[in-house]
Amino acid sequence: MRFSHKHLLGIEPLAPHEITMILDLAERYVDLNRGHAKHGDALTGLTQINMFFENSTRTQASFELAGMRLGADVMNMSMQASSIKKGETLIDTALTLNAMHPDLLVVRHPHSGAVDLLAQKVNCAVLNAGDGRHEHPTQALLDALTIRRAKGRLHRLSVAICGDIAHSRVARSNILLLGKMENRVKLIGPPTLMPSGIAEFGVEVYQDMAEGLQDVDVVMMLRLQKERMDGGFIPSEREYYHRYGLDAQKLAHAKPDAIVMHPGPMNRGVEIDGTIADDINRSVIQEQVEMGVAVRMAAMDILARNLRATPQEVMA
Ligand code: ASP
Repeated sequence: MRFSHKHLLGIEPLAPHEITMILDLAERYVDLNRGHAKHGDALTGLTQINMFFENSTRTQASFELAGMRLGADVMNMSMQASSIKKGETLIDTALTLNAMHPDLLVVRHPHSGAVDLLAQKVNCAVLNAGDGRHEHPTQALLDALTIRRAKGRLHRLSVAICGDIAHSRVARSNILLLGKMENRVKLIGPPTLMPSGIAEFGVEVYQDMAEGLQDVDVVMMLRLQKERMDGGFIPSEREYYHRYGLDAQKLAHAKPDAIVMHPGPMNRGVEIDGTIADDINRSVIQEQVEMGVAVRMAAMDILARNLRATPQEVMA
């Protein structure tokens, strides 16, 4: 079966079998990454450019490592120091880079839709590393791989996504992915942080943690995205922690073997209690980081295969 996309811009256009295809290949890369020689040759000879217009720790490091482990020439553009600061438009920057013949462009941008726009202007494959509050596809894929490994399946699970749903691209990509794989998705958060019309996505909406967490298999916590807030969305962090911060008492409403996830960066004592985050029997947060490298290796490998294939083969 083929992966019928040139780019990885979001979860929205992916078919369930394409999601499974990335996850299955990522499993192989998990094994490779756990071995001594962590090298593959899927990207040998290819050039990967990482353009991050927004801060990143995990995602940038993980894309960089993924590319290097598969043999690509990897370059990180520091967009803080780039010509963007001198007034160059995103498109001009893209065209300049395009002239250097990259094969894979990994882009993070604060504006929703900016990465899609850029993908239309360049010849190479583009991977969205997070655009505004729109999508963060590799995060949802690494979350899916973490869930599938912990629970043994990725369907008919009950998953709670808690906190700042409105500003979160992680929530959006996860809602789409978990829905496509036929899971029950429960969103929990204050009404001020819940996007209007979200119920149309086939999710259940709760304002109360005890109610929403009832019998879930997975608890996914989100950071308060203060950089995307332009007003008072919560009364205070203390009050927010009291009502929505994940602690042992609230977690007790979930299934006894429920796993706890967080995409990072974490604000301990705001959306999650530090002891829960560090509890190796419940928290899979470090495993999420590990799966991130494997999933990004798989995603770039699959797109690189399409770069080498003819257009007819890609569509077949
Ligand atoms: N690292 C994730 C993102 O880039 C989540 C977060 O920042 O809270 O969206």
